[in-house]
Order: sequence, then C-alpha cells, then structure tokens
Amino acid sequence: MSPPQKHTQPVRSRSQRIGLLLFFPGFIIALIGALGAGSIYPKLFFLASLCFITIGSFLYFSAAYLSAPAGIRNNRIMFASLSSRGSIGVIIALFFIAFYILMYWFPFYLEHFIAMFHPLSRMLRGKPAEQYFMYGSLYTFTIIIMGARALMKYRHSRYQIVRTCAVIFSQFVFAFLIPSILAAFNEPEKYVNYFWPLSYKDLFPSNVNYLLNFEGAISKFLLAWTILLTFAGTPVLTFFFGKRWYCSWICGCGGLANTLGDPWRQLSSKTLASWKIERYSIYSVLSLIVITTAILWLNHLFGGELLGQLSGGFIRFYGFAIGMIFAGVIGTGLYPIFGTRVWCRFGCPQAALLGIIQRFFSRFRITTNGAQCMSCGNCSTYCEMGIDVRWYAQRGQNIVRASCVGCGMCSAVCPRGVLNLENGPLAGRIKSDALPLIKSFKSGI
Ligand code: SF4
Ligand code: SF4
Repeated sequence: MSPPQKHTQPVRSRSQRIGLLLFFPGFIIALIGALGAGSIYPKLFFLASLCFITIGSFLYFSAAYLSAPAGIRNNRIMFASLSSRGSIGVIIALFFIAFYILMYWFPFYLEHFIAMFHPLSRMLRGKPAEQYFMYGSLYTFTIIIMGARALMKYRHSRYQIVRTCAVIFSQFVFAFLIPSILAAFNEPEKYVNYFWPLSYKDLFPSNVNYLLNFEGAISKFLLAWTILLTFAGTPVLTFFFGKRWYCSWICGCGGLANTLGDPWRQLSSKTLASWKIERYSIYSVLSLIVITTAILWLNHLFGGELLGQLSGGFIRFYGFAIGMIFAGVIGTGLYPIFGTRVWCRFGCPQAALLGIIQRFFSRFRITTNGAQCMSCGNCSTYCEMGIDVRWYAQRGQNIVRASCVGCGMCSAVCPRGVLNLENGPLAGRIKSDALPLIKSFKSGI
C-alpha cells in the first residue's frame, strides 16, 4: 500500500521562487521605510518597495496560472496553510488587523510609512499624505495587483475578465483618481463610487448644507450625483441587472473581496445559523441608518435637543463600531479566517437595500440546469456569500436570493455548465418546482 500523500508542501516552479525572492525584499523595504527611513527618502522607499512587490507578484502569479491550462483548479485549496486557516493564514490575518488598528487609532506609529506617500500625494493633490490617502493608495495598488492575478486565474471566463476589469477601473478612477483631482482643485474629496446608505453621511443635513454652501460648481454636482444614484440609479439598475451592478462591478469593498480576498472566498460559512444571523444583522444596520437620517432631518427642520443628541450618539457609535471595527478590522482583517464578504454579507447597508430590490423587483436570477448537476459542490464551496448553490442546482431551481452579489464564481467553477447568470422577465423567475426528471428519480420511478 502506498503511503498517504502529503498535502502540506506546495511545489513551486523556478519562476515562482524568483517571484517570491523579489516580493519579500519589497515588503522588507516597506517595513524599513515604516521604521524611519521612509521620512528621509520617501520617493526611494516608495518606488523601490512598489517595484519589487509588483514585479515579484506578477512573476509569481503568471508562473502559477499562465503556465497551466485555463480553468479552475482546486489544487490544495483545503490543505494549504494560507487558504485553510493554517498558520500562514492566521499570521496574515493578524498583520491585517494590526494594520487597521494602527491606521484608525494610532496613525502616529505609521508616520514614517505615511511619509512614503507624500510625493505621490503632493503630485496628485498638492498636499502631503495623511493616513487615509495612504490607505486609499494601498487599497488601489492591491486591487490592481491582485486583480491581475484574478484575470490570469479566471481567464477562461469572459464574465470574470470583464467584471475584474470593471472593479479595477472603478477603484482606480472613481475612488482614487477623481477624489485626488477634486482635492487638488480644493473641492470636497468625494469617492464617487460610494453613496447613501453605504456612505451614510452623504444625505445627512449637515453634509447637504455643506455641499450646497460650498463655493464652486462641482460640490453641487456631487450632491446631485449622490441623490441621483441613491434614488434613481439604485432601483433602476438593480431592477435590470440585480445587485451585481454595484456589489461586483463598482464597489471598492466588493472589489477588494474579489481580488485580495480571492484565496479565502471558500471560507465563508454555509450554515443555516449564519443565514439567520445575516438577515437580522444586515437589515438592522440599514434600519439604523434610515432612522438616523430621518431623525437628523426632523431635528434639522423642527429642532429638538433630544433628537440632536440621539443622532450625534448614533454617528459616533456607527463610525466606531460599524465603520471601523465591523467593516475594517473584522470585515477585511479576518478575510483569512471567515472568508471575504463578512461585511457585505452581515453589515453593509447598501447590500441590504440592493438585496431587497433584487429579491422582489429584479430581472436578475441564476438559472440552473438541474439534470446536468453532478453534485460536486464546487459552486457552494466558492460562493463567498455562503449560499448553498448546489441545493438549488440539484433541484433545478432558479437562485433568487437577496444576498447573491452576482460575482458569477459559482458559474465559473461549475464543471458541467449548470449555472447561468441571466436577466429576464419578472414572471416565473422564482420557481419552486423541481425538474420532473429529478422528481421521478426521487420518487423511485
Ligand atoms: S451546479 Fe455544477 S458545481 Fe454545483 S454541484 Fe452541480 S455540477 Fe457541481
Ligand atoms: S450564488 Fe454565485 S453569483 Fe451569487 S454570490 Fe454566490 S457565487 Fe456569487
């Protein structure tokens, strides 16, 4: 009898090893910069670490993915320490969490690292970087580098190629370039791919007044843009395309989840208990924002000290507990432990609103050709929203779930072409009937 196969040691090609040999020095240069040298030679440390990390990553990913035939490979996904909550995954999670804690509450410890971004910030915005410019830049570089990985890995799927290009473009243009240009022209620095309720302060009376009274035409355009996307763009686009137009094509949180988070997407919980928690938690956050926005407007229009105190308390609570801890530390920091869409699934008010529209008033559905399903479970495994896709596929039922972000990965990993993301008429999209073939199989005929 042959000895059991060892799954713990990955086999890396020479190009992959060279890629790693370039990546790690880039990381160490950034670390040395963060310890002090970044303030003395900001350009040198910024460019050196960026070049080493970028070239090393491209070399590693191209050797890993382009040398093999296109298509999904599940190699070692459940054994590798990085992707299966092993020690490497835990170390990365601790690193992410430490970074978020320092950035939110102790940015002075990152002073030298932030200094490395001064030249870029001065070039784009005409002023030195602060912690959020550093974070936005890192976020954008990460989506570009890991987006390139996704393009190589999922090159067999046209949907994934177009979608990944869209999230890279959205992050780079809407959340990095445009806000920087706005800052350079002394306009409000707005991320134009975020709006109410995700960007919850956008429709608070204080922000509306600020934009209305700001000198310059662009601030009024930004207000009109927010109102248009919130009240017209959200329902109309979700009716036609489901929530995927936002969650999987535009939103930076989704963009990071589908690029940086891709190695951990299979870790999302598929239990019934998670589904129950998700429904309470996500709609609670949405309700909090709707109620607070209403209270703030009532307070603004009619006055009232109690209302003012209530909403002030909420804003502080939301910013700390939801915005920083939930969306940042837990939502992103714990990618390697809980999977990639913890925030999108359990907390995001935008996803909650889009989900209600998708479930009841949208043309979007995932159709399933149940007779072809061989119950391998790839689809459920890779669903980042924890949907048991196979359950629907086995029954030949359409998937019309509020939580589905339309990432299309279930369809991309299905070896039998069972699943299709489609838009079609509202009538008949929710089918509870199993295929006659499956019915007769189950009844023993
Ligand atoms: S739908 Fe496809 S991926 Fe899902 S269980 Fe069936 S054959 Fe496997
Ligand atoms: S059901 Fe499919 S498209 Fe929807 S979130 Fe899950 S993997 Fe993505």
